[in-house]
Amino acid sequence: MSQFWSPSVRDLEPYVPGEQPQIDQLIKLNTNEHAIGPSPRALEAIRQATSERLRLYPDPSGVRLKEAVAKRYGLVREQVFVGNGSDDVLHLAFFTFFRQARPLLFSDLTYGFYPVFCQLHGIAHHVVPVDASFRIRVEDYLGQGHPQAGGIIIANPNAPTGIALPLQDIERVLVGNPEAVVLIDEAYVDFGGQSAATLIERYPNLLVVHTLSKSRALAGLRVGYAMGNAKLIEGLERVKNSVNSYPLDQLALAGATAAIEDDAYFEAACQQVIQTRQWLSTELESLGFEVLPSSANFVFARHPEHDGAALAQWLRERAILVRHFSYHRIDQFIRITVGTSDQCESLIQALKACVNP
Ligand SMILES: *Cc1c(COP(=O)(O)O)cnc(C)c1O
Repeated sequence: MSQFWSPSVRDLEPYVPGEQPQIDQLIKLNTNEHAIGPSPRALEAIRQATSERLRLYPDPSGVRLKEAVAKRYGLVREQVFVGNGSDDVLHLAFFTFFRQARPLLFSDLTYGFYPVFCQLHGIAHHVVPVDASFRIRVEDYLGQGHPQAGGIIIANPNAPTGIALPLQDIERVLVGNPEAVVLIDEAYVDFGGQSAATLIERYPNLLVVHTLSKSRALAGLRVGYAMGNAKLIEGLERVKNSVNSYPLDQLALAGATAAIEDDAYFEAACQQVIQTRQWLSTELESLGFEVLPSSANFVFARHPEHDGAALAQWLRERAILVRHFSYHRIDQFIRITVGTSDQCESLIQALKACVNP
């Protein structure tokens, strides 16, 4: 009974993830999973790891995975932190860096978990509106007209808009806030954004967070990582080792390492998604939709004559799931994950029947 809950738990408003219905034949375009499966080498590594060795604890620091990530981004192992999905990494980062006297800054339209972590840990925060075209304005993060930041988090490309900031803009935020950790959540960067990982050597306040859930097609494995200055990583390790020594199991470590090492498969699979996204955006526009410019594996679109919630419901009745948010400024949009070409074709046919009956 809730009377047994700690007082702060009574007021929590947890994050609500997209639905995962267990229904066959559903066209599932609601949670930005990759349209194509994971690397066959990753699956083989998971099979190999399914052995009597599961009797043992996994490597608590995930050294092989850290080395694979470090090698791919031109870093050393001490600049990499690994966690149980990037939500876990983000949570630890909020606790490690953002419990400051000065507020954490983030955009009004961004990943819904950020305000939840703030509430959980009582983190002071200041919400910065995106502009009329749903873009993040870098000037707003440089201390003009807003409080001096105790920390900054930017999803780049942003969710749920898909709009990416160029690297020069990220660099301006870093230069303007040398006293604050600037966390760039790059969950979608591999679908057309520019990674800030190349700036890590120059900015000790930069933390870049990635997930294997989207571009590596391993949402079911739960692996994410952070890259940054060794001192930032050491802070994350301290907190992680005060919560859970083994956040990644042996299968996750094996599969994730093999996935990171299989760059050829990864590049080709992401290119395919980018091509389908271009086709999907063009088709939506020809049906009269406004489509925000996406650098992610989803598009965010609205129709001038059709309500967002009604469109999502129309699609749901035809066994196509997309995401609709009943939030201020974006309640007329639907967010559509870029599926396979067949799935996108079915989606377009269903929308055609709705907008040109
Ligand atoms: C999907 C997503 C995540 C979470 O990824 P997991 O690794 O699956 O926990 C984090 N940030 C953003 C912006 C996302 O869209």
